[in-house]
Amino acid sequence: MRIGVPREQQPGEQRVAASPETVKKLVAAGVEVVIEAGAGRGAAIADEAYKSAGATVADADAAWAADLVLKVQRPTEAEQDRLREGQILVGALDPYQSREQVAAYAAKGVTAFALELLPRTTRAQAMDILSSQANLAGYKIVVDAVAAYSRCMPMMMTAAGTVTPARFFVVGAGVAGLQAIATARRMGAVVTATDVRPAAKQEIESLGAKFVGFIPEGGATSGGYARPLTAEEQQQQAQMVAEHLKSQDIVVTTAQIPGRKAPRIVTAAMVDSMKAGSVVMDLAAETGGNVEGSVAGETVTTANGVTLIGAMNLPSRLAPASSILYAKNLMNFVMLLVDKEAKAFTVDEEDDLVKGALITKGGSIVHPNLQNA
Ligand code: NAD
Repeated sequence: MRIGVPREQQPGEQRVAASPETVKKLVAAGVEVVIEAGAGRGAAIADEAYKSAGATVADADAAWAADLVLKVQRPTEAEQDRLREGQILVGALDPYQSREQVAAYAAKGVTAFALELLPRTTRAQAMDILSSQANLAGYKIVVDAVAAYSRCMPMMMTAAGTVTPARFFVVGAGVAGLQAIATARRMGAVVTATDVRPAAKQEIESLGAKFVGFIPEGGATSGGYARPLTAEEQQQQAQMVAEHLKSQDIVVTTAQIPGRKAPRIVTAAMVDSMKAGSVVMDLAAETGGNVEGSVAGETVTTANGVTLIGAMNLPSRLAPASSILYAKNLMNFVMLLVDKEAKAFTVDEEDDLVKGALITKGGSIVHPNLQNA
């Protein structure tokens, strides 16, 4: 059983899919680990640290020759060419946005696991890459939005007068949004938040923020995710958001609907209605944008002086922390594939987690969500 960990090739990606801790555990389970030299540099993990943990440090060819390859981002075109029949690929493969690539894994006979598709059950928590990375993104979006804001977060009472606290609005209170609320509260802002799932209202309030908005009938699916709003519900939400934004200093948006384009919640006219000096940051900029006009990786200042920031791969900007969590998620998943007795990787499709993340096997696309369309 050999696992390869190549250096990530996507521009700007600093994370790595293994840590010294995960290497140690994999080696103890009888797995050989080959790390591409320099793979951990962006995450502040030296080749020596991997070697001390029991890995071999070698070139990209050696890492890609392994039976199982661990990745952060889905393969680039050049990386995809390296995949071979029977090889196992595990990572954040972004399957809904890369249907052609999924078809290519199948055509090559690759056994591919997209960990975004793991069912969100209790047993899957230790492998939940969406949660571990969204949690850090929720923290980082607040840090970045505050850095772009030229006033203060907390109230300050001084002999020279009082500085009022920032009014901070969080749109979408999933894993990232809840961490954003907690972080903004710690910094002293007055925090409000909105979501469409009934459970989210209570979670927002339990963090000491005020819920604003409305929960549509059946706002959550049986899977616990939000559903797209009807045109009428969208209008109701838009009215509420438009009114609320006028008094807000910082807005961070984190709303997503799995497998779909992110919902558009803040229009350009709403941004225009905000006060000069306000900051709007869109975590969903890469998946379609919650905010009209936001572009991933770009910051624009509107004519009326609002700074609009399109977030791009925030977890990568905390690579030493996010890699440790991501690597642990992957290691926990890979352990489900390790058959110590047979000394081989096996794919047990009776296991709901293995089956839930499996997208291609034996030359076919096997995940039901990816078979049509
Ligand atoms: P997500 O990234 O899919 O979406 C982020 C948030 O945006 C969600 O709270 C969603 O309700 C909200 N949203 C979507 N459309 C919206 C709209 N039009 N207006 C306002 N908000 C909107 O969500 P996530 O962070 O992955 O979490 C989704 C669910 O999964 C939550 O219920 C969470 O508690 C649950 N979860 C469960 C586990 C577990 O182990 N059981 C782990 C993580 C998350």
